[in-house]
Amino acid sequence: MLLSDKYPFLTDYFTRALEAENHAIPQSILFYGSDFNAQYTLALEIARLLNCKGDKSDSCNCINCRWIREGTHPEIRTISRIDNKPDDDESKLVISIKQSHMIKEILMATSEFHRVFIFCDRDDEGNICGINPVNFQAETANSLLKIIEEPQPGVTFIFLTRYIDDVLSTIISRSQCFFVPSKERVNYDYSSIKGVFENYYNFERKDAFDISQKLQDLSNEYPIMSILEGIQNYMLSLLKSNPNMTNFIKHIEFVEEAKKQAKLGIKPANIFDDLCLKLIN
Ligand SMILES: [Zn+2]
Repeated sequence: MLLSDKYPFLTDYFTRALEAENHAIPQSILFYGSDFNAQYTLALEIARLLNCKGDKSDSCNCINCRWIREGTHPEIRTISRIDNKPDDDESKLVISIKQSHMIKEILMATSEFHRVFIFCDRDDEGNICGINPVNFQAETANSLLKIIEEPQPGVTFIFLTRYIDDVLSTIISRSQCFFVPSKERVNYDYSSIKGVFENYYNFERKDAFDISQKLQDLSNEYPIMSILEGIQNYMLSLLKSNPNMTNFIKHIEFVEEAKKQAKLGIKPANIFDDLCLKLIN
């Protein structure tokens, strides 16, 4: 399956940003969500679009696209506690200060390529995981701040994580953050919220609390998580048929926050009020 089929909204967003005259791609990008493979695939796709010398299509066979598909591009680097360690670096559990120095040194030289650094973690089997305060500690993160915020053409930093809160706020404030929905989601079932939340984008602000009440009533019938999943699925199905409506990505993030509140045991009334006020305006 082509990546553009799997993540039409995000790839579309980045493709358009890259086509814009001023190359409006942010210097630092943060992806969050539970599907790390999706995040990593997306990061590589951005690296590919930034380096492609051909038509940028999924099937482009230019040298940059080939290298990225083979995982051998000299200027696309995965930075984790395991990948891209300098020889004298003995740390095994963290992305280290030595790696941060290595990145700075790499950036002292010029390159004909667009350099991309993908920050992530790996589990014992080598699967991609997210950065967190343990594997990407404040000292290392802070040592990278200067190069992240200094506009430097031809360099992009991408951070992968499960929760935004797992990343230092100083990195977040310098990054554009995107929630990446799981690609394992096979259907977009939203039957639980049908009739209550459909066409919510046409609702009026004054009705926000009524809608919240209806969602609370639904929670007598369905677990709150399945209602929130239903809302998210509905938004994803909207995005699928309207890939240009990137404002839905923001909405999906709001629901993601609501799911987190639900996990913390916050009262449904508060969660739905808060969510409806964010979504309906
Ligand atoms: Zn290409």
